[in-house]
Amino acid sequence: MVNSETFNAWACTGKDQPLEWTEMPFKQFDADTVEMDVTHCGICGSDVHTMDSGWGPTNYPCVVGHEITGVVTRVGDNVSKFKVGDRVGVGAQSLSCLECDSCKNGFENICENGITGTYNGTYPNGDKSFGGYAEKWRGHQHFVFKVPDNMTNEIAATFFCAGVTTFAPLRRYNVKKGDCVAVIGLGGLGHFAVLWAAAMGAEVVAISHSKSKKDDALKLGCSDFVMSSDKEHMAKYKGKFTHILCASYADDFDWGAHLALMKHNGTFILVAAPEVPLSIPPFALLVKQIQLSGSLIGSPKQIEEMLEFAAEHNVRPWINKYSMKDTPQAIKDFRSGKPRYRFVLEN
Ligand SMILES: [Zn+2]
Ligand SMILES: [Zn+2]
Repeated sequence: MVNSETFNAWACTGKDQPLEWTEMPFKQFDADTVEMDVTHCGICGSDVHTMDSGWGPTNYPCVVGHEITGVVTRVGDNVSKFKVGDRVGVGAQSLSCLECDSCKNGFENICENGITGTYNGTYPNGDKSFGGYAEKWRGHQHFVFKVPDNMTNEIAATFFCAGVTTFAPLRRYNVKKGDCVAVIGLGGLGHFAVLWAAAMGAEVVAISHSKSKKDDALKLGCSDFVMSSDKEHMAKYKGKFTHILCASYADDFDWGAHLALMKHNGTFILVAAPEVPLSIPPFALLVKQIQLSGSLIGSPKQIEEMLEFAAEHNVRPWINKYSMKDTPQAIKDFRSGKPRYRFVLEN
């Protein structure tokens, strides 16, 4: 049966093409589907990379946006955990096989059979996945979450990608009181990483190439702000960091200089997604037994845990709101580095 249902969205029709507000085909509604009216959608760097075919050719037309919150309007027959009217959110992942070892053990985000992204992905029946720069969204219940009662949808939206992408590895590597965590890059991800690590009880230091974010870093909970170009200030932290979370990676990233700041047995966590291979001096890792780790979004279980932690510790991202109808302007402002620290579109 041809699916004739549609929804309105900002579609990207090709690299360097302007966004167009247009009707798009909905994925098929099945027994596991949750449909929502989108209230908010955060703007993630991945959205822009995808519109630009930055990680390989994008399957245009695409509708990006994977920090989506909304209100449930319809549920399929298998859905019992949500009802019409519930406030819900969805992040960067909309499906996995749900059968492999990773999926069965609560790591659906690293499914052995690959994941279906919330946009620029394809469902098993061939339908394309579309994101949240839209009026409506539809997807599988397994990747939809209730927004905590004490959190608004506009605040909740950015937790679903930026939030969990930084929360998951900091939790996995057990950041706690007594640790000293460096966060490289104070953008959407980095500002969340600071909030989390501080809430977990660690001392947090921001490392940035831009002096303009110093005051914000301190307000977010950092004990210090270091310009990566300031060699003297960097030297003060030699051997000090138990964890470094790298949220921003420039092509000329100086691995030697940053790994020198790590404590023995420390963990370097890469959450930035550079378009180039990494070039790491091996002895900088060997002599201190440094763990080098990558991390990609988070599993449904980690998303639940994050929302609980955020609700309990009152972790709240800094956001700037735009009306959904001003999405093209928001993207323009995003590209020029204006977010402090995450843009959220509002219907
Ligand atoms: Zn994202
Ligand atoms: Zn799987």
